[in-house]
Amino acid sequence: MPWNHLRAFAGGILDFARNDRPLIRHSSFLLLLFPLVVHAAGNISILGSKPRWSVLENYQETITHDEFAHLINDVYCTHGFAPDLVEINEKTARILVNRDARKFFTLRFAEKDDGREPVPRLWRPAKILPPAKLEKPLFGLKIGLDPGHLGGKWAKMEERWFQVGNSPPIQEGDLTLRVARLLALRLRELGAKVSFVRNSNEPITGKRPNDFRELARKILIKNGVPQPRADVLDPNDPEKEQTIRWQSEILFYRYSEIRRRAALVNFKLHPDLVLCLHFNAEGWGDPNNPTLTDANHLHLLVNGSYLAE
Ligand SMILES: [Zn+2]
Repeated sequence: MPWNHLRAFAGGILDFARNDRPLIRHSSFLLLLFPLVVHAAGNISILGSKPRWSVLENYQETITHDEFAHLINDVYCTHGFAPDLVEINEKTARILVNRDARKFFTLRFAEKDDGREPVPRLWRPAKILPPAKLEKPLFGLKIGLDPGHLGGKWAKMEERWFQVGNSPPIQEGDLTLRVARLLALRLRELGAKVSFVRNSNEPITGKRPNDFRELARKILIKNGVPQPRADVLDPNDPEKEQTIRWQSEILFYRYSEIRRRAALVNFKLHPDLVLCLHFNAEGWGDPNNPTLTDANHLHLLVNGSYLAE
């Protein structure tokens, strides 16, 4: 899988792992992790497409044995991995593609560091960018701005909507878009080439919740809700996450939307860097009498920097 694909998709995944979903309880997180069983045959994640193993051919001899072993043992699989999934030999790694058919992909290692084939990528790492100019330090850098969520008429559905009294509602998707537009001006002044992953309050995905009702029903049944209800009773319905409506909506605004954004980044925009913008949100207390909070958990998530090393 191309690294920038991983990068952009992980950006999306982070979005739902973040602690910015005050209205959604822990149970839904688990429920959403398990729908994998729906596609147990291919063990593919929600709305995922079948892996195209042939793409890996482009990565032959781009990595040495030592670096591969280091990355898999010390970065990606620090708790170990099943030995039949990846078998590391002296000159190759044998990767299981299909257990029943005993099908494997063989990755050939580069023999030494200076004998590596170049890694094919559509973005440029910092070290190969032209030297920064004093007045235009970001000259030529391609930056994609991804304003998180949708806002507008979708804000309530995506549970990114907050209102105190009769004041205008605060919608995270609108805030992120406004900030992205302000940021674009400043980044361009510094020389960057800026593109928008989203530049309106409309989704990138062409799908809508109704397209996912059948999948939502299957997911719920597989996860122990044998006769899922069609609809949510009211916003405080304690079992709303077990309804076809709630599940089909999240399949639309989170899973489908994030996958389409990742595809846009990887197959069309090709930025060197993607900035995914979000605002943190805290619980608002009693939904009938919401209150503001001073808590601020500003954090920057830099993908790929999860470990101390
Ligand atoms: Zn957010």
